[in-house]
Amino acid sequence: MKNTLIRKMLVKGMLGASISFLLSIGTTQAAPKVIGVDTLLTNNTELQLYVFECGNVSARDLSLFNPAITKGTAMEMVAPCYLIKHPKGTLFWDGGLSDSLNTEPNGVEFYEGAFNFSVSKTLISQLEEIRVKPKDVDYLALSHLHADHVGNANYFANSTWLVQENEHTIAFSENAQDYGFHIDDYIGLKDSETMKLNGDHDVFGDGSVVILSTPGHSPGHQVLWVNLPQTGPVILSGDLYHFQENRDNYGIPVWNSKKETIQSFVKIDNILDKTNAQLWIEHDKPTFDSLIKSPAFYQ
Ligand SMILES: [Zn+2]
Repeated sequence: MKNTLIRKMLVKGMLGASISFLLSIGTTQAAPKVIGVDTLLTNNTELQLYVFECGNVSARDLSLFNPAITKGTAMEMVAPCYLIKHPKGTLFWDGGLSDSLNTEPNGVEFYEGAFNFSVSKTLISQLEEIRVKPKDVDYLALSHLHADHVGNANYFANSTWLVQENEHTIAFSENAQDYGFHIDDYIGLKDSETMKLNGDHDVFGDGSVVILSTPGHSPGHQVLWVNLPQTGPVILSGDLYHFQENRDNYGIPVWNSKKETIQSFVKIDNILDKTNAQLWIEHDKPTFDSLIKSPAFYQ
């Protein structure tokens, strides 16, 4: 019965999209899917990548991100969001801080004052500028579910949510808070069409936009490969690294799973070495300041 189904799917070319579903209903956990460098470099699809300002993060104790840094060292960071237009559809990546913070002139304190979050420009106003309505966006993917990456996630309830299965399981469980997840931040996605991933995922099937599984900062943390024909390949880091110094020294935040983080560092370093991709560290303010912002875009 199953074999007949699989043969029919092969004929229709549906097997690739369905295999992870079939595996997920099995009793044994399949090995995470890995997409190789050859696939990542094969395409030259026309893409547009927009970068949005989605909030400011004042971090008051960098030792949380790397115990080797002196306690109480402060740093100004940013929380960007991104939109990718592909001929086959659109993907929104990372939800930044909530637009609702725009009405708080002094921002809000977070994590017992270790952070201050503020938003000087709403995401929705930036999307209006390029005539994009969240309800028309095809896919939503978040590097992980911490507050500074899901602030505007609920705008995208109409999109198909691409999320690692283990992150999704925790998201709506009693343990969510233990992982630093706040269910209200993304409750709108509970009934969204959801594609649960186990490993890497080629969003449009041509290697141009690929979610790369990089657990460690959270169990289902992921980064995004975007192969721009003119700019060259870029990896959007999520929180694989928070700032350049941690990238240089391979600093590991106190919340992370150390072993998984190191494996993810190695995985992404290997891809960076073989592809010459740029790594855009999302929270790194000097990196963000150097990028062109929406309504301009990268190609
Ligand atoms: Zn973050």
